[in-house]
Amino acid sequence: MNELIQTEVLVIGCGVAGGTAALRLADLGIPVTVVTSAREPHESNTYYAQGGIIYKGAGDSSKKLEQDILAAGAGLSHPEMVRILSEEGPGLVESILLERLAVPFERDENGELSLVREGAHHLSRIIHSTDATGKAIEIALLNVLSAHPNVTLLTGVTAVDLLTPGHHSRNRLSVYDPPSCVGAYLLDQASGRVVRCLSKKPCWPAAAWGKFSFALPIRPVRAAMAWPWRSAPAPG
Ligand SMILES: Cc1cc2nc3c(=O)[nH]c(=O)nc-3n(C[C@H](O)[C@H](O)[C@H](O)COP(=O)(O)OP(=O)(O)OC[C@H]3O[C@@H](n4cnc5c(N)ncnc54)[C@H](O)[C@@H]3O)c2cc1C
Repeated sequence: MNELIQTEVLVIGCGVAGGTAALRLADLGIPVTVVTSAREPHESNTYYAQGGIIYKGAGDSSKKLEQDILAAGAGLSHPEMVRILSEEGPGLVESILLERLAVPFERDENGELSLVREGAHHLSRIIHSTDATGKAIEIALLNVLSAHPNVTLLTGVTAVDLLTPGHHSRNRLSVYDPPSCVGAYLLDQASGRVVRCLSKKPCWPAAAWGKFSFALPIRPVRAAMAWPWRSAPAPG
């Protein structure tokens, strides 16, 4: 790996969140560098997810889905995030997983998607690929990403810190500037070296970002465009 990587967008993680964010950007013609700390690119929670993923059932609506999620969350779910998920989730499943990736979900004899009811859902709205839904999604995603001309996929590369100018400036008052992030320090596991990656738009999708103690909602394109920042600047 080079001592310095420069990229338009850095995406950390290539589970379903990072992978779909990278794909949406790459499809728009934007060069994306995707890094994963795993040696094998598929190694992620996504790969091991079993049951299925929410789509939409007969007579379904975003309001019904929202109510089911809020009830299951027992007061702990962020209402605005639930509303966004309910309104945008099924459409993204359709455009990304069904149309763009053609994930082989189960279908009945008429070719219709097999919808099942799980957990706290009040109607059948879950689509699945036998009992290895995440594996089917992750493999379809990686097949497309690894062949995409706008995607560079690096494995065995761990993001260890963010490049936040306010925290590295010689001007101690910079910590009070509006927070910004211009990339990350990446550990190349093979060589043991830490390299800088400068990007115009860093992106920490869900689980990978969780390692930095923050979670972005699952809204691939907007998540990818977000500039995450440290939640609390250090005192000067
Ligand atoms: C056994 C199991 C069953 C599940 N069943 C279901 C189900 O039926 N339905 C459902 O909706 N959900 C299910 N889930 C949950 C679902 O798998 C996750 O919510 C989803 O896969 C999260 O996707 P993600 O892309 O955010 O994270 P992940 O798939 O975990 O991807 C995280 C990525 O970030 C990378 N990464 C992490 N830290 C770093 C770092 N510091 N530097 C570089 N890379 C890093 C990882 O290597 C990986 O590529 C299940 C999960 C498990 C484990």
